[in-house]
This record gives sequence, structure tokens and C-alpha cells, in this order.
Amino acid sequence: MPEYDVIVVGAGNAALAAAVSAREQGAGRVVALEKAPEELRGGNTHYSGGLLRFAYDRVEDLVPIVPDAERQIPHFFRDVETYPAALFRQDLLRVTEGRSDPELSEILIGRSYETVRWMSGHGITMEPALSLSGVRVGDRIKWSPGAVIRARHEGVGLSRSWFEIARQRGVEIRYGTCAVGLVQDRRGRVTGVSVHDPEGFGELQARAVILGCGGFEANPEWRARYLGRPWDHAKVRGTRYNTGDGLRMALAIGALPHGQWTGCHSTPIDADAPPHGDRKLTDKTNRLSYPYGVLVNLPGRRFFDEGEDFQFYTYAKLGGIILNQPGGVAYQIFDAKVAGLLEGRYKTGTPIVADSLGALIDKLPVDRSACLKTLDDYDAAVGPGAFDPAVRDGLGTKGLVPAKSNWAQRLDTPPFVAYPVTGGITFTFGGVRVNERAQILSTSWAPIPGLYACGEMVGGLFHTNYPGGTGLMSGAVFGHLAGANAAGEQARAR
Ligand SMILES: Cc1cc2nc3c(=O)[nH]c(=O)nc-3n(C[C@H](O)[C@H](O)[C@H](O)COP(=O)(O)OP(=O)(O)OC[C@H]3O[C@@H](n4cnc5c(N)ncnc54)[C@H](O)[C@@H]3O)c2cc1C
Repeated sequence: MPEYDVIVVGAGNAALAAAVSAREQGAGRVVALEKAPEELRGGNTHYSGGLLRFAYDRVEDLVPIVPDAERQIPHFFRDVETYPAALFRQDLLRVTEGRSDPELSEILIGRSYETVRWMSGHGITMEPALSLSGVRVGDRIKWSPGAVIRARHEGVGLSRSWFEIARQRGVEIRYGTCAVGLVQDRRGRVTGVSVHDPEGFGELQARAVILGCGGFEANPEWRARYLGRPWDHAKVRGTRYNTGDGLRMALAIGALPHGQWTGCHSTPIDADAPPHGDRKLTDKTNRLSYPYGVLVNLPGRRFFDEGEDFQFYTYAKLGGIILNQPGGVAYQIFDAKVAGLLEGRYKTGTPIVADSLGALIDKLPVDRSACLKTLDDYDAAVGPGAFDPAVRDGLGTKGLVPAKSNWAQRLDTPPFVAYPVTGGITFTFGGVRVNERAQILSTSWAPIPGLYACGEMVGGLFHTNYPGGTGLMSGAVFGHLAGANAAGEQARAR
């Protein structure tokens, strides 16, 4: 008899959702293998903003998830909008250029609400994501539809809650334990994993194995291999432990690659951010208020429509676009009119400040005359209309390339500030193909017996871009599914 019913590889949101789900569905002995030491546990989940995008038909559907919301934010339920599945689908398809896998995206969207209820029922406390998703307009708050709820204390709270729930449910956690290979019997069933832990190399057996050990964002060699130049130089926003191990192990036994292997989620972050995520700063190096300003590169030119859409629909591709500029850096420039709209996270950085645009540019390492012309041309191209940060206000430039489609106001009110940004990688989009039971398929398109995947390892959902709050949701949905189905392997073996 194997020593475990279910082995889960990883200890982030996806893996621990899977482990808890497996226990709940009757798996007796469940272990989560965490490559990191205990003090660095929890993967990208720890660093995340804890934001969850999910579908709900009625505002009242949020009440069981955030019953205390109005104590924190008066009139929350009056101001928030519904987010039916059709809108989630539309957002996902729009930003992924229609490429999100139809079967997997239906699972993600269709199970999103019940999965959030499941998480909350297990004791993951949620709250309105005011600092990420709310824009104050007079005495009301305009919420970005679908992405309004986050785990309390963000990723730190989410990760801590999962470890506590796993402990209460009797999930064993082995820290400092790196899965290095999958073990199969002669019929091809996965029967365990080989591991490297402080004792050395060994083997653990199980009726089922769930891989929830992230993408390859922290592996510069794989980034160079699949994403190409200049991604080997990218700063990593989260954990240093997601080096593609699960993908390597799965592909080595014939798993079917799926999704966009040249794609990743990458955001504008403080150019001085550390090379890997900082456990205390977590996601606070993000610089996402660019729709209210102007973005220039070292040659002094604009290169992106800052107002293409709300930041939740453009931020995950903008990091890569910045990284591909000369020197991999850019400058976000704002005037005093929008100072109050900058996210609180900007306070973790030190802006360059001046009383005129010329003086500001003098302090930046950009091409001075080109940059002055860029800003003059921009100011001249701003059209008439009313600025409204709560809607796509259509206040766009005329005849400018690239255009700024919304929120285009002149830079005319001192003081002016500039924030240096680079592109930080969050997670990679390429993964393995799973079916509706979260089983990993082989290159023969048949499930590999005993093998499941969840979280960043699931390929096919995201291409080129991503709607904010979907990574954690996908991890929880496929983790929940994988755990329940892996627990079923035990019943089938009886
Ligand atoms: C700064 C930041 C902010 C973010 N904000 C949000 C947000 O607000 N909302 C959202 O939806 N998404 C957000 N994301 C993305 C989100 O964090 C990820 O999509 C999600 O955490 C992925 O979950 P996961 O469980 O698949 O991977 P992870 O949480 O990264 O967990 C992977 C686990 O596998 C372990 N591991 C790796 N290799 C091995 C091995 N060989 N053996 C054993 N263990 C191994 C790691 O140590 C880790 O425990 C953010 C990410 C970052 C970095």
C-alpha cells in the first residue's frame, strides 16, 4: 500500500486548495511538498494582491462572501455592479485575443463563484479590494466589474489561511522538499514522486499526484528558451522557486504541452525593485496608474496607448512591452491634477519631481529634445471632453501615434512627477493540457493515470494578456477539481 493517498507538489493557492479538497473528498493521507524552506513558503500566492475575479449574477451573491463589507465601505452593495458569466467570458476572450481555451475557460468561469464560496466557507476571509479596484467619484466608489473581492491581508493572508486550513484538515506539509521526478508503474500509472529533501534523495508513493508547482518564471534559462530575449534579464515579482520543475517532470513522461509558451504575465514595476519578490513589499512595487499619465522610453518617445482600457485589462501585457524598450525601462509622467488618483502603492517609490516639464526631463536619462517634442505633441493632440476616471471616458488624442484613447488630459499643472518603471515577470502562460477532471493529458490526448495539475501549470487559459484577478481564481478552481478527483482514485482502488 502506498504511504500517501494523494501527493500534492507545491504549497501555493492551487496546491493547498487541491490538498484541502482531497481531504474533504475522503483522501486519508495527503501531503503537500514545498520546495521552499518554511520561512519562504507559499509561492507566488504569498506575494499576490489576493484579488479574485469571479462571476456573479446578483449583487446579493456577494453578501455571504463579504457580509461585513458595508462596515468597511458604506454603500458597497449599492455601488458594486454585477458580473455575469457572459461578461467574464467577454473580458477573458477580449484580452486574450479570442485564444483562451474554450473548454478550460468555461470550467474556470462556470465554477468561479462556487469556488469562492467554498474558499470562504473554509475560513478564507474576504474583503472589498478598495485599493486595487475602487475609484472614488464624489461620494461614490466605482468598482471594476468582476474584480472587487480579495482575500483579507491580500496574498499574505490568503497563503497564511491556506496553511492553517490545511493543518486543521490534517494535510501534512513537508518543507524543503523538492519534487524532482514522477514515478510510474509498468502500465504508465503515476505512482509517486522522487524527491530531494534535507536527508538526500528518496521516493514517495501515492495513489495520485497533483502538480501545483507553478510556471517557469523564475528560471532564466527557460525564459530565454521560450520567451526569448530580453526575458532572461527580467525581474521576478514573486517567488524564486517556480523554475518549471513540474512542467519538466510532466513533459518528461509525455504530457501534452498547451497554451502560449512564448507568453507571460508581466507588469510595470518600480525600476529599482529587487531581482525577486520581497516578502514584505509583496505586490507593492506595481505601478498601475499609467492610464492617468504619459509613458516615455529612454529615446524620449511614447510607445503604448496608456488609456487603451482600465489598467486591469492592460497591465499584464505592459510589463513585457516596457522590458522590450531600450534599456528595459520607461518613465511614467503625471501632473498634479491626477496626483490624488495614483494608487497607494506609488508611496513605496521615490518619484522625480520638478515644477516644469523641462526641468523634469532634465532629471531623467531620456533624450531631452525628443522627449520635449513628444510631450508637446501629446498636449497638442488632447481633444475636448470631460475627464472621468470611473468610465472609459473617450477623452482621447487626435492624430497621435500611438494614440491615448481614454483619460488623455494635458500635462499642464505643476508639480510634475516621473516614476521609473521596468517590466517584472509574474508567471508564465505555457503549461500542460488538463481535462475537465484536471487530469493531465498525454501527447496521445488520453489522461495520464494518476496525474493532475492546477494553477500556473495549467496551459491554455491566458494568451498575450490577462484580466486581473484570474490567476488565483484559476488556481482555486482547478485545485479544487484536482483534489476532489484525485481523492476519487483512492475510492476506485478499493
Ligand atoms: C506580485 C504578484 C501579485 C499577484 N497578484 C495577483 C492577484 O491579486 N490576483 C491574482 O489572481 N493573481 C495574482 N498574482 C498571480 C498569482 O499569484 C498566481 O497566479 C498564483 O499564485 C499561482 O498559484 P499557484 O499555486 O499555481 O503557484 P504558486 O503560488 O507560485 O505556488 C507554487 C508552489 O510550488 C512550489 N514548488 C515549485 N517547484 C517545486 C518542486 N519542484 N517541488 C515542490 N514544490 C515546488 C513553490 O515553492 C510554491 O510553493 C500575483 C502574482 C505576483 C507575483
